[in-house]
Amino acid sequence: LTIGVPLEIFPGERRVAITPQNVALLLKKGVSRVLIQRGAGEGAQLLDDAYEKAGATLVDRDAIWSQSDIVLKVRSPHSEGAFNEIQALRQGSTVISFLYPLQNKPIVEALAARGVTAFAMDRIPRISRAQVFDALSSMANIAGYKAVLEASNHFGRFLTGQVTAAGKIPPSKVLVIGAGVAGLSAIASARRMGAIVRGFDTRPAVREQVQSLGAEFIEVDFQEDGAGQGGYAKEMSKEFIDAEMKLFMEQAKEVDIIITTALIPGRPAPKLITKEMVAAMKPGSVIVDLAAEAGGNCEATVPGKLSNYKDVTIIGYTDLPSRLPTQSSTLYSNNITKYLLSMAPQDKSFGIDFKDEVVRGSIVTLNGEIIPPAAPPAPP
Ligand code: NAD
Repeated sequence: LTIGVPLEIFPGERRVAITPQNVALLLKKGVSRVLIQRGAGEGAQLLDDAYEKAGATLVDRDAIWSQSDIVLKVRSPHSEGAFNEIQALRQGSTVISFLYPLQNKPIVEALAARGVTAFAMDRIPRISRAQVFDALSSMANIAGYKAVLEASNHFGRFLTGQVTAAGKIPPSKVLVIGAGVAGLSAIASARRMGAIVRGFDTRPAVREQVQSLGAEFIEVDFQEDGAGQGGYAKEMSKEFIDAEMKLFMEQAKEVDIIITTALIPGRPAPKLITKEMVAAMKPGSVIVDLAAEAGGNCEATVPGKLSNYKDVTIIGYTDLPSRLPTQSSTLYSNNITKYLLSMAPQDKSFGIDFKDEVVRGSIVTLNGEIIPPAAPPAPP
């Protein structure tokens, strides 16, 4: 069995699907060959030498696509310029990557037409057993951390308070909207840097998690539980959204940094920060909109870009994990390698077990047949 890892072709993408350490693990577990495209790890400071020492075979792009039984990637296979990764896949081979099949129907159809098997890392059910494979959480954790660093880079003051000979400096105030994996990571990071942190979420169940990180959990005077199916957020009533936006208007005048992470699976991001709220912030304030890819939580966000509205910096980057490429490659590699090994690929049959909830949840095509999405897991 040959596993191949190409250089990611998405513009600006610096992550790589596998680290040298996991190459060695796959070989130890019985995979016969691991092919790495020359330079595939360079963007993440994982150099060819290290892959070679781990036992990988360094090859050019064509060899990856023509010889691999299983291709491991970060971004979904797609075409860039004249090169089409989907067409390059060998018929009957398997590809594992982020895929977002519901948002990328043409890619799913092209993978099926090519006669391949495809797994989406983003469709792995978020059950306890699958936590080690949960690349969405790994990337969200990194995005939350990096959001605080980006905010701090564009903010003109310390986050922490200090008493210095030159004067007393008050700590900065950070508001984090949405306390899922990314939001909690941002809260923890901003706390570690000494800021006063406030967290808000529609799911009251996260109150204790926010408080345990040393942040204040702010609430609206309106009863509605935002927990939907499987512990994910549901869309809130207009009354609740109005109430939370009133709270954010008051907060906007007070805080220095707002980090928004509010998402509802399968829906556009709720617009929670209006231009009026941005204008009410102090000059020099910063907003990081982690929901930018889903349209943004802030009206003034330009997805993918750093921009300004009035005197406020708005960070709408949609590639924060790729901006911490060594860390994100390491965690992604651990997730994808453990997932692959859980399917025992070294066994010649590469038995795809539909009774395995994780396999069933994440398989998108099987030998050219489109597999409909599995029913969501039952609530805990
Ligand atoms: P997400 O990225 O889909 O959403 C981010 C947060 O935004 C959520 O906490 C959500 O409640 C919040 N939100 C939605 N609408 C909002 C609004 N109008 N105002 C404020 N906040 C709003 O979430 P996620 O980080 O992927 O995690 C979602 C849930 O899944 C969490 O409960 C998390 O603990 C759970 N989870 C479980 C596992 C596991 O068991 N393996 C792994 C990861 C996450």
